[in-house]
Amino acid sequence: MPIEYLKWRNHHVKIERKRFYRRIAVYVEPNESLRLKSAVLTRKTQLLDFLDQHATWIERQVATFQQMKRQYPQPQYEFGEKFPLLGRWVQVLPTEKKHFYLQEDKLFLPIRQNFKQELLKAYKKMAEDYLPLRVAKWERRMALKARSIKVRRYKSRWGSCSFERDISLNMKLVAAPTQVLDYVIVHELCHICHMNHSKAFWSLVAKHCEDYKISRNWLKKNHLYFDFLAKESELYS
Ligand SMILES: [Zn+2]
Repeated sequence: MPIEYLKWRNHHVKIERKRFYRRIAVYVEPNESLRLKSAVLTRKTQLLDFLDQHATWIERQVATFQQMKRQYPQPQYEFGEKFPLLGRWVQVLPTEKKHFYLQEDKLFLPIRQNFKQELLKAYKKMAEDYLPLRVAKWERRMALKARSIKVRRYKSRWGSCSFERDISLNMKLVAAPTQVLDYVIVHELCHICHMNHSKAFWSLVAKHCEDYKISRNWLKKNHLYFDFLAKESELYS
């Protein structure tokens, strides 16, 4: 299928037609572009009607992403800039040393070719050092034990726990406030007892993490807060 575009109000809408799509669906991307899925034979007037019907929802989504851009302006990836780490802001400064290091609210990065690559490497290392320590703390508190802990870079999931008690955590969590990353750790540890999201599971989460709903909502609302750690920005693409 050739790529088709539609003009609707101020938006360019990309249309993806597939034989097996039955209904029309619209998506607003973080970069504010619109995408429409539809069946092969749906007429353009029908698509425009659909967009009109969902105009309020679409404009609200667009406004949310615009608000996020104001909240999280595009980083320049330059020395002197501040980035979030454990929920506070650290200023990134250059060092002649071989390895990065933290000093109070300053993160010193080696001067090499690519600032962003060095920054991501430093965050990955900090996540690999810090998150397992935090898991160990919760394991003691909750009297539970994971078989292994891995720190990986995931696009959208925060963590997982396998049937064999192998826990994986998203390295981006190292940027989050401590109570938020604690919630994700508690959540995954609770899966050792309940491999589901049942009532019993959530009451166990609540037992260890009273305000878990606040953290859960924070993650839902602020996932683009971590955009600076993505290989390709979702917000600025
Ligand atoms: Zn879960």
